[in-house]
Amino acid sequence: MRRQVLILISTTLLAGTLTAVLADNSNNVPTPNVPTKDKDKDTKPDGRGNVGKLSPARPRGNGISYHGGPIMTGSTNVYFIWYGNWAGNSASTILTDWANNIGGSPYFNINTTYYNGSGVFVTNAVRYAGSTTDNYSRGSSLSDADVQAVVSSAISSGRLPRDTFGLYFVLTSADVNESSGFCTQYCGWHTHGTIGAMDIKYSFIGNPARCPNACSAVSSGPTPNGNLGADGMASIMSHELEESVTDPDLNAWYDSTGAENGDKCAWNFGATQTAANGSKYNITLGTRQYLIQQNWVNASGGFCAQRYP
Ligand SMILES: [Zn+2]
Repeated sequence: MRRQVLILISTTLLAGTLTAVLADNSNNVPTPNVPTKDKDKDTKPDGRGNVGKLSPARPRGNGISYHGGPIMTGSTNVYFIWYGNWAGNSASTILTDWANNIGGSPYFNINTTYYNGSGVFVTNAVRYAGSTTDNYSRGSSLSDADVQAVVSSAISSGRLPRDTFGLYFVLTSADVNESSGFCTQYCGWHTHGTIGAMDIKYSFIGNPARCPNACSAVSSGPTPNGNLGADGMASIMSHELEESVTDPDLNAWYDSTGAENGDKCAWNFGATQTAANGSKYNITLGTRQYLIQQNWVNASGGFCAQRYP
């Protein structure tokens, strides 16, 4: 649905060259020269969403196909850009702990069922590589182009390194909107762009506290770490991370409907347990419990799971 790539356009912008991939939802982007992204249908399923695509009738194979593009091989470096107002918010420790512990987990190991055209598989390795802050440099309503500008600024200013093995998360506080459809079309997305003449992978992560009914698995009541926004973001970030490593340039792994691995299991949490504070959780990473969506196993016919093998 979202990712039929129609044409490629190159244009020169300032010092760098920006390659735009226009998808069939190009009406969602402000100008033709802004890269569109994986417009994840990451809002809750309402019977018309991704879960509806998980019907048992699958084509032969594992229900997801390789389209020839690169994957992220080796260890993936995760960077955080804390955008907006995060003062006194426990999100910084909750999500940094997530980044420090998701690599090597049985959960992230699901991604090792994906490979590139040279037969190189995704490795179960993620490194938390650093963070910076951004005090509303583009205001409190971000366009798609603003999100890339936030990443570009963090790199060009030297606050974060320029890293083609990196995934840069733009983490927004609850007062920040993304005007192309946060809370109505998606809860987060990932894409890539040419920044400083390199192909940089980045991801917008909205704060579910802005719209719990759309973007949080728990719209009221306790969450595993007592922070509805951050706890919801952990699941959205897991979704975008697994899609980024298996489909970083939007031309590698996705199914016949355009769904990437994370899309195929969006809002599917499997069995849960009850934490001491009464919240539901389904995974422990490091010392913390989280409620994180499942991911698609590219083996044995394909299925959503919380761990592999
Ligand atoms: Zn997605």
